[in-house]
Amino acid sequence: MLTDARLASRAVHGGDRRRKPESSLTEPIVCAATYTFENAAEIADHFEGRISREEYGRYGNPTVRAAERKVAALDGAEDAVLFGSGMAAVSTCLLAILRSGQHVVMTSDCYRRTRQLVASALARFGIDATLVPPGDLDALEAAIVPGRTRLLVTESPTNPYLRVADIPAIGRIAKRRGVKLLVDSTFPTPVNQRPLELGADLVLHSATKYLGGHNDLLAGSLSGSAALVSAIRDFRGVLGTILDPHSAYLLLRGMKTLALRVEKQNATALEVARYLESHPRVLRVFYPGLASHPDHEVARAQMSGFGGVVSFVVDGSLEDVSRFVDATEVPLLAPSLGGVESLIEQPALMSFYELTKEERAAIGIAEGLVRLSVGIEDAEDLIADLGQALESLSPLERHGEDRDSGARARLGVHEP
Ligand SMILES: *Cc1c(COP(=O)(O)O)cnc(C)c1O
Repeated sequence: MLTDARLASRAVHGGDRRRKPESSLTEPIVCAATYTFENAAEIADHFEGRISREEYGRYGNPTVRAAERKVAALDGAEDAVLFGSGMAAVSTCLLAILRSGQHVVMTSDCYRRTRQLVASALARFGIDATLVPPGDLDALEAAIVPGRTRLLVTESPTNPYLRVADIPAIGRIAKRRGVKLLVDSTFPTPVNQRPLELGADLVLHSATKYLGGHNDLLAGSLSGSAALVSAIRDFRGVLGTILDPHSAYLLLRGMKTLALRVEKQNATALEVARYLESHPRVLRVFYPGLASHPDHEVARAQMSGFGGVVSFVVDGSLEDVSRFVDATEVPLLAPSLGGVESLIEQPALMSFYELTKEERAAIGIAEGLVRLSVGIEDAEDLIADLGQALESLSPLERHGEDRDSGARARLGVHEP
């Protein structure tokens, strides 16, 4: 099923049945809560495993299955399983493979809701976790409790500073210590990074983002060995965290253009990052494709492109930066990322809204931080728009301070 082809070919044809029902070129949307059996003999054949067929909507759907085959082809996996959202994939995976008394080690900059699930909700079921700082492989290995740690969870690149985890190094630790490695690879997509080839056991995507790519569906995926994926799929049937066939169809359609979109987003994001880095009103740009990013070398070693998300700190107060964001005309103001439309947001106001200024500073969320998810618009238009919005800001009051120290103070951000 084209698992050895390059990514653009896999995106179009990977996992596809060449002949589909009614000779349709596209995969039909099968809207069925349940599936009929011819007679008692067919029921017996099904339950005794002599035939492979659908049974009931919570256990599987042909349109969803087609999308799963394409995700598996993109990830270079034996199999993949889809869920109703990225968080449904995270929660089903963890509940399927962890038992009371077991322990999880997770890098501390994972997606906020994953952190909430692993670091607090799972404790109610007797599963505890240790969070380790990103980039600290010694701390990661030291956190493994022999006999109890079952799973390492990491993500790369992360939000909002685009920290890049050294997946091959973490994979070697996991192998040596006999624990499984789950990598949330939502940001890079299989076009830029394939964690299974780098040593992960399971790779997760919020397919809501780049795989779907059009900001019109929620879905999540897990890819890995046939045995692991099958165990997780069985547990999906218990939890009911399924994807509906209409969203599966939109996802299939979206994935066909994944390589086209992501290659364009890689190129535009790099141009935008370079432009912002040269702009006097921008204090700092975080993009793994820039030599100034602390993880640039790790990113170069394991990624074939650096993705479509650029974070940057604008020199000014929270209110100044809101004025800048409001003055942009191309990106839309919204959470999420990965779609064809550029989206812009201020993490201090969106993802971290419930924290005080001091709490945000403590976890390194600068007041002036902006996250831009680059869409597929022309780079020239995005750059011109960011430029006019930056120019629209009032000149900074310097009060005679030295620019660099004042800027550092306003940056209010730890080196990530
Ligand atoms: C959005 C996101 C998720 C959660 O996915 P949903 O589809 O919103 O449930 C998980 N991980 C990362 C990195 C994300 O960006």
